Amino acid sequence: MSSSLTFEDARQRVDAYISQFEEGYFPPLLMLARLTEETGEIARVIAHASGKTPKPGEDAGDLEMELADLLFVMVCMANERGVSLERGFTRMMQKVETRDAARWTRKDAEQSRE
Ligand SMILES: [Mg+2]
Repeated sequence: MSSSLTFEDARQRVDAYISQFEEGYFPPLLMLARLTEETGEIARVIAHASGKTPKPGEDAGDLEMELADLLFVMVCMANERGVSLERGFTRMMQKVETRDAARWTRKDAEQSRE
């Protein structure tokens, strides 16, 4: 897939969608409840894929869609709070790339021991 959807595209598209409606964004605590609900739906898909017996009539679920549902809520939360997911993601990656740079076993280190 060669499309290049940016954080800014996602921010604007969600904002354009939500802005059509009088209700607007959910208040923060309700949004947090939605985020938790979507996290649970991801857990259900993973549980099914990991051998949990589905309830009667329950399908296996769609991990890609459930992750996207969570991302939608995260974009809503960032928009409503006026924070930048792109800046946050960039700061988070800088953190793991520096703080955790030596935390895990590097593949090249693994190969040189063989
Ligand atoms: Mg969902």
